[in-house]
Order: sequence, then C-alpha cells, then structure tokens
Amino acid sequence: MKVDIVLEENRLLEELYDIIRIVDPVTKVVYDTKFINGYDKKLQELNNMKYCFDFWGDDKPCENCISSRVMNEKKIYMKTEYNGKDVYIVTSIYVEYNGEKYILEVISEITKKELLNELKGKDYFEIKKTLMERNIQMVTDELTGSYNRRFINERLPFEMIFHETYKENIVIAMADIDFFKNVNDTYGHDAGDFVLKELTNIIKENIRLEADWVARYGGEEFIIFLKNIPNEKAYKKLNEIREIIENTDFVYDDKTIKITTSFGMKEYSKEIEMTEWVKKADENLYKSKNSGRNKVTWK
Ligand code: GH3
Ligand code: MG
Ligand code: MG
Repeated sequence: MKVDIVLEENRLLEELYDIIRIVDPVTKVVYDTKFINGYDKKLQELNNMKYCFDFWGDDKPCENCISSRVMNEKKIYMKTEYNGKDVYIVTSIYVEYNGEKYILEVISEITKKELLNELKGKDYFEIKKTLMERNIQMVTDELTGSYNRRFINERLPFEMIFHETYKENIVIAMADIDFFKNVNDTYGHDAGDFVLKELTNIIKENIRLEADWVARYGGEEFIIFLKNIPNEKAYKKLNEIREIIENTDFVYDDKTIKITTSFGMKEYSKEIEMTEWVKKADENLYKSKNSGRNKVTWK
C-alpha cells in the first residue's frame, strides 16, 4: 500500500500536512512514508524507519498508541508527540484497501520557538500535558468553545476518507443567525457574544458529541457535522435544533433576546471536493435566507 494511492483522491492532504504515512495497525510496520515539501532534509534518516514508533525515538509502541484505538473504535484520533527535538500533531485514521486494513497517519510539525521555551525545564509528562492543552487550544474557538475554522479544514478531509471506508452517510449544515447585527445594535456587543456562546451550547446539547461536531466558521456562522445519519433524519434533526433556538429566551442583563437561525444542509457524495461541499451547504443557506429565513434548506 502506497501513500500516493490515498493522495490521488485526496490532494488536499498534501497541502495540510508535512508527513503522510501508512502503518500496519497490528505490527506497527511502516509500509510507506511521504515527506511533503521541505522535509527532504529529514528523509534520509527517516527512510530507514521500520516501525512507526522509530520516528519518536522509542524502541517500543507508544503508550498513547492511537492506531489500535482507531481500528477498534472506528474513530479518528489525534495526539501530539515529541521526539526530543520537535513537536508534532499526529492524526490517525483507519482505511481499507483491497480488503486489507491500514492506518493512515498524517503528521504536522508544530514546533515553534515560543512553544519550545514554554517546554524548557519541564519533564516528559509535563511536556505531554502542555502539548495536549495546546492541541485543544489550537482547534478551539476562544469565544464560544466550539471548534474553529482550523479544525474544519483539518478534520473534514478526514471525515471524507473515513466515509470511503465505512460508507456511512455524512452531512454538514451551515448555520447562520438571522439579523444578528440587530442583536448587537439593540443589546450591545457583549449581549451578542453571550448569544453566540449560548447558541453553541444549544447545538452541542443536541448532537451526539462522540461522533458529531460543531465549529465556528466565522462571525455568527457555524458548521455542524453529522455522522452516520440518513439525510431525512439529518434534515429533521436540524429542524429540531432550529426550533429549539427559536423558542429559547436568551436572557442577558435582565433582557430577553430572541433569535432565529437559517440552515443550509448538504450530504457528502463521492465526486465532491471539500471546498465544493462547503460551498453547496452555503448555497443552501442562502436559499433559506432568501426565502424568509428561520428554515433549513437541503435540496
Ligand atoms: P442575515 O440574516 O442576513 O445573516 O443578517 P445578519 O445581520 O446576521 O448578517 P450580517 O452579515 O449583516 O451581520 C453579521 C453580524 O454579526 C455583524 C457582526 O457585528 C456580528 N458578529 C460577528 N462576529 C461577532 C462576534 O464575535 N460577536 C458579536 N457580538 N457579534 C459578531
Ligand atoms: Mg447572520
Ligand atoms: Mg453571516
């Protein structure tokens, strides 16, 4: 199994990551490694790697090995790793090719000078803990606590690959608050911030957080990802969320704020690229906006 086979259908991975490799989930043997631009300098030393953990300077499988978990739990896992010199984020996903099982690992170097300073003098476990916190921070939207745009860009390509293996229906919805400018103008920016946070909580409470996720796409716009759900059910679920938002009293400073939200839904289909998928959801959102708002448009 070669990395290029995966890349053929997922060119975007090359733009997002530094190293991509294929690992045997059981024996941990590395079948193939591809170093993206600028990583040639390390090619020589790393090309001799037999096992995935060689990369981390370990002589046995990592304690926090995620490849077994990836295989058993049908989930995508991320972790940070430190090889004594640089810090990396590793994302693992299970893929099947010609009936064989593989782990696809994509790796980005995140070493930054200031981060290294922060790690100076800390022991191994303190470093791991700091990295974990940093890892979460990097993909979290500060205001709302939802995921951020970076998370969307890194995660969606993976959800698409994941879909190829399991053929589970996956859906995204773009959600945008209606006339949100009025909320800021009438109640102030802090009240607007409060509404954004509460709205995020409502969405989180109404999706299955072990599989689905919500991320802030920008301003008052969110992407909701729903996994393993038929389109009709997703449409119904989004309408339920829309109704809950409509019926919620957002109470800030003794004032009751009411909002409505418009949604554009689009299921994934094989021919579609990530940016196109998001664009289609956005187009459906605009159909909702142009036909009275406070609705979900799917087709
Ligand atoms: P539409 O129904 O067409 O979406 O109308 P709208 O008023 O929601 O859309 P518009 O794009 O005109 O305005 C979006 C507003 O969202 C303007 C901006 O001030 C507000 N906004 C964006 N980000 C934040 C934020 O982080 N906090 C607050 N309080 N407001 C925000
Ligand atoms: Mg809006
Ligand atoms: Mg908007």
